[in-house]
Amino acid sequence: MAGLYIHIPYCHSKCAYCDFYSTPNVKSMEQYVDALKKEIVLRISELNEPIRTVYIGGGTPSLLPISLLKSIIVEVSKYIDIDGLEEFTIEANPEDITQKWIDAIKQMGVNRVSMGIQSFSDVELNEINRRHTAQMALDAVNMLRESGINRISGDLIYGLPGQDIDSWKYSLDLLLSLQLPHFSAYLLSYEQGTKLYVRLMAGKVEEASEELVNEMYKYLIIRAHEEGYVHYEISNFSKTNCEAIHNTNYWRDLPYLGIGVSAHSFDGQCRRVNPPNIKNYVSQLLAGNCVFELEDENAQNRHNDYIIVALRTAKGIDLEHYNRTYNYDILDIAKPYIEEGKMVLTKTHLAIAEDYMLISDRIMLDFIV
Ligand code: SF4
Repeated sequence: MAGLYIHIPYCHSKCAYCDFYSTPNVKSMEQYVDALKKEIVLRISELNEPIRTVYIGGGTPSLLPISLLKSIIVEVSKYIDIDGLEEFTIEANPEDITQKWIDAIKQMGVNRVSMGIQSFSDVELNEINRRHTAQMALDAVNMLRESGINRISGDLIYGLPGQDIDSWKYSLDLLLSLQLPHFSAYLLSYEQGTKLYVRLMAGKVEEASEELVNEMYKYLIIRAHEEGYVHYEISNFSKTNCEAIHNTNYWRDLPYLGIGVSAHSFDGQCRRVNPPNIKNYVSQLLAGNCVFELEDENAQNRHNDYIIVALRTAKGIDLEHYNRTYNYDILDIAKPYIEEGKMVLTKTHLAIAEDYMLISDRIMLDFIV
């Protein structure tokens, strides 16, 4: 089973924390969509397995005019049975969700919406340059549900500038009260090149202390469990059987095809990446040329890629898969962590214990070869 990812690199404006490749300049949007459709034709047969999930991400896919979105999906439907998909997700920002948009995506076969809520405090949303308000996010969830789209995921961020523990509890508790089947909670990171990073360097904002972040994380995992969520990946929580199928397959080393600028692909052997340059992407694809570059994939970095994604999940490293595919004595490295209770070893898997997922990056380093 495989997945198809389609990248829409346009955003209304730049959020203060975001270092993704995106642009507010939508002048090239129509040509970009033509190029996307061309790439679908050229590369759809790259995978040898049937495509069971489609994910339209960004950027902000919900700012695409409905006619352009539809034309992409019509192209996809020439090769894939949309009605037979296990999951068809589109990312959306709350301010774009209207009844007209919902009716359109339903008609196109989309059955899951992933929404960037980030916070239920308007002050915090304003601080990170989000364009919506808390009420808009609540209205969007209601509208989706009333229209029969119940597979909704909401994103929150913790460690935001000015956010204290009470404010985090407020946002999280409000999200949990919605009982969405899935949510993600990300710890804010100050990435170079972002507006927040500039403000941090200028001393205008302060990074949340380690103590506060630990308190927020602790509250997150306790409350998520109380509300019946499974913490199945460092930042992802779901009700039983509501995990994000498309994303989970990335973590399981399954193949996927990524279409659009800066999209990544993996055919089971090789990883390919499209460079982040819209102008070049459009001109090359419209001339019938693919732009992907093959990533230098030797056994060592294949191993490291697997470690990084697997150790982010609650299940962890699948030992049978690991021993069949890689040749390192992983249990030797894990031994002290298991003894300290930071890792958990079962008959089939090796994972980072939930309480230590926040420091998973530090633990992972020891497993990188
Ligand atoms: S909407 Fe998403 S992709 Fe666009 S700038 Fe904001 S965080 Fe980045």
